[in-house]
Amino acid sequence: MEEQVVCVGCGVDIQTEDKTGLGYAPPSSLNKETIICQRCFKLKNYNEIQDVSLTDDDFIKILHSIGQSEGLVVKIVDIFDFDGSWLPGLHRFVGNNKILLVGNKVDLLPKSVKPNKVINWMKLAAKELGLKPEDVFLISADKGTGVKELAAAMDEYRNGKDVYVVGCTNVGKSTFINRIIREFSGEKDVITTSQFPGTTLDLIDIPLDNGASLYDTPGIINRHQMAHYVDKKDLKVISPKKEIKPMVFQLNEEQTLFFGGLARFDYIKGGRNSFTCYFSNALYIHRTKLANADSMYKEHLGELLQPPGEDHAENFPELIAHEFTIKEEKTDIVFSGLGWITIKEAGIKVVAHVPKGVGVMLRKSLI
Ligand code: GDP
Repeated sequence: MEEQVVCVGCGVDIQTEDKTGLGYAPPSSLNKETIICQRCFKLKNYNEIQDVSLTDDDFIKILHSIGQSEGLVVKIVDIFDFDGSWLPGLHRFVGNNKILLVGNKVDLLPKSVKPNKVINWMKLAAKELGLKPEDVFLISADKGTGVKELAAAMDEYRNGKDVYVVGCTNVGKSTFINRIIREFSGEKDVITTSQFPGTTLDLIDIPLDNGASLYDTPGIINRHQMAHYVDKKDLKVISPKKEIKPMVFQLNEEQTLFFGGLARFDYIKGGRNSFTCYFSNALYIHRTKLANADSMYKEHLGELLQPPGEDHAENFPELIAHEFTIKEEKTDIVFSGLGWITIKEAGIKVVAHVPKGVGVMLRKSLI
């Protein structure tokens, strides 16, 4: 049997097939004496963390090793896709290690939203999901908001020990690590001069001041996210880049909203009501009569109703209907990875349609 080649940087098994997967190295690099994976290469040469994906088994292996080590766990979620980016089960693996919960992309929330309200909401949600973080932070890794405060808390809670950063793909973990490297080091070239001790954790080791390390774990893919059902171009349309401008719709019973051709919302019963939609400003929302909705989708998917674009419409997974009776006032109905609708009144009946495989759920209103 051929001997498995491992990366001298992080210890991961080297592979040359999947460019976005863990341990990728270009085939030409295999002739070199020391082999380094693309992710470590970028970090070493450009001070940049690259996004790679990981299978569930790899991820569980990494979580286990974190549970057996001592250190602070920093868990990052995307507040625009809180449930979709949650990483269920993390608390079962982290052992006695302390956890800081970080909501990223705060810059996307409307300015009128009070950060403390969102933080309290996150605390409650974490508790319901079985996680007991020491503290909760709201940041923008991209803009830098809240990063200094978080860095200070990380330094305090880690108590001289290592830090493990975990999160699923697309939460902004790379952006965060790149920023935190600068925050902790003050200097930009700390990484380039440092060693890459081989580990068996498949973690990238970023040295902190006192011999401890900041470990970047690869991102885990959550298959229920809408992001996996659209192509790169459409992903740009559905991923908000700027502060979201909520759109309020006054709907009568038996009216429908289409979110491009990716999702559909039917208002079934409950009298005239207002619905606030939080989606990327670039996503077109089309209102129509429920009675026309089916035929409209058939005829106009990929044209009026897009994304998906015309070339993708044919193979796009069918939309599956999920019916809900809203039990509490101020409830969000969340289309995983796409956005959400805030419903003010209790007692009404709605149907949410999403591509087969994509999550849809109710939660207490975030805003
Ligand atoms: P990773 O997969 O978790 O490593 O995520 P990346 O760092 O690659 O970021 C995923 C996407 O989110 C990219 O399009 C980033 O530009 C975007 N992103 C990251 N941080 C922020 C943020 O603070 N605000 C906003 N609006 N976008 C962000």
